[in-house]
Amino acid sequence: MSGEVDMEKIVSLCKRRGFIFPSSEIYGGLASCWDYGPLGIELKRNVKNAWWKAMVQEQENVVGIDTSIMMHPRVWESSGHVDGFTDPLVECKNCHLRWRLDKIEGKGCPECDGELTSPRTFNLMFKTFMGPVEEEASVVYLRPETAQGMFVNFANIVASCRKKLPLGIAQIGKSFRNEITPGNFIFRTREFEQMEMEYFVKPGTDEEWFDYWVKERFDWYTRLGMRKENLRLRLHEKDELAHYAKACYDVEYLFPMGWSELEGIANRGNYDLTQHIKCSGRDLSFYDAEADERYVPYVIEPSAGVDRSMLAFLVDAYDEEEVKGEKRVVLHLHPSLSPNKVAILPLSKNEKLLPLSRQVHGQLKAEFMTAYDDAQSIGRRYRRQDEIGTPFCVTIDFQSLEDNQVTIRERDSLAQIRVSIDTLNGILKSELEGISPSAFPSSASEQ
Ligand code: ATP
Repeated sequence: MSGEVDMEKIVSLCKRRGFIFPSSEIYGGLASCWDYGPLGIELKRNVKNAWWKAMVQEQENVVGIDTSIMMHPRVWESSGHVDGFTDPLVECKNCHLRWRLDKIEGKGCPECDGELTSPRTFNLMFKTFMGPVEEEASVVYLRPETAQGMFVNFANIVASCRKKLPLGIAQIGKSFRNEITPGNFIFRTREFEQMEMEYFVKPGTDEEWFDYWVKERFDWYTRLGMRKENLRLRLHEKDELAHYAKACYDVEYLFPMGWSELEGIANRGNYDLTQHIKCSGRDLSFYDAEADERYVPYVIEPSAGVDRSMLAFLVDAYDEEEVKGEKRVVLHLHPSLSPNKVAILPLSKNEKLLPLSRQVHGQLKAEFMTAYDDAQSIGRRYRRQDEIGTPFCVTIDFQSLEDNQVTIRERDSLAQIRVSIDTLNGILKSELEGISPSAFPSSASEQ
């Protein structure tokens, strides 16, 4: 549905069902800050786990790291952020709203068409003070990207992991940018999470690896169910590129507000390591034993946003359908991303169903994230699970007490099968992982 999905519907679903709440809401909220609720954190963790699995677990030469948010201020001088991590800020002379010049169309204020001031550079890094004194000497920054944590640890990783090149260092963590115009829900916020990997390669092999990672990262989204027609790659024009970068592709998604960046994949050359060598005086070059030569590696960097990906997965999964004359809202999330994998729904609140329902719940929750719901009609409970993207519902009825069988209902096809409780976990596992042909008929209508 994406492209036609109204962002308001996503925001409202997220609030209503406990995915995402405005931060500090009882005090009127804090601009562009959001809190992830019980379902939101599951979805978010699943996005991060899927990235980690693809980028670390399934790779042969990528290791993880978790570096501190506050780093030595000289890191940000060396990386160029203190001087150069700026956006052009303009202010409306009439209504005094401030805008990022490169994100507005036309010459006037987007709000009132008033005249704009000439642009000044605005540094996006959050500054604070470390320790009990507020003076220049104790200034530290909240990191605006996780990447520098990997560069400054390159030598530590090489020495401790005894790895050859290519070598990737991956990190997921919070970053902070004092964005001039945050907005579009969790698309652009001032506090957000990134999933970044620095892939260190031998100079001369960088273009090949760049192509490899561009393809790999595009495919990651489609493997997780995102529709190809809502994704595209955009090559940066020469004048858009950072001065040190050799090339950069953005993976863009068709969000409700139009095509926007999901992730950037850049060939950063040897800029970062060279800068840190110059400014720290440490030797961060790599001795390649096979070639018997020493060089400063080139770096390919896929850099994605956790929150942005999550928003794209939600938008892409959102659908409104008509089933038997009634509207159903459904999130067709990939099962690996769904907050709950299975919901246990006793047919009614009748006490006779309770012991078996509890037993089934116990058996399933040991292996899967589950929900247990016995309030309201079964039809309404199915709808509630559809709306949060639960792939399977298991219903326990009076017949179950006799034959030890339960009904599994599949979210997308609405097909139902009846299976023995002994085989339930195994069947759900294979359906969720898609490891064998599905036990469900390909289409059906709800009973
Ligand atoms: P933009 O042009 O949208 O400001 P950028 O090119 O500055 O983004 P990068 O520095 O390449 O972004 O950051 C890598 C990724 O981190 C982005 O593709 C995005 O997914 C995420 N990201 C960056 N800034 C934000 C933000 N303010 N809020 C949420 N996610 C962000």
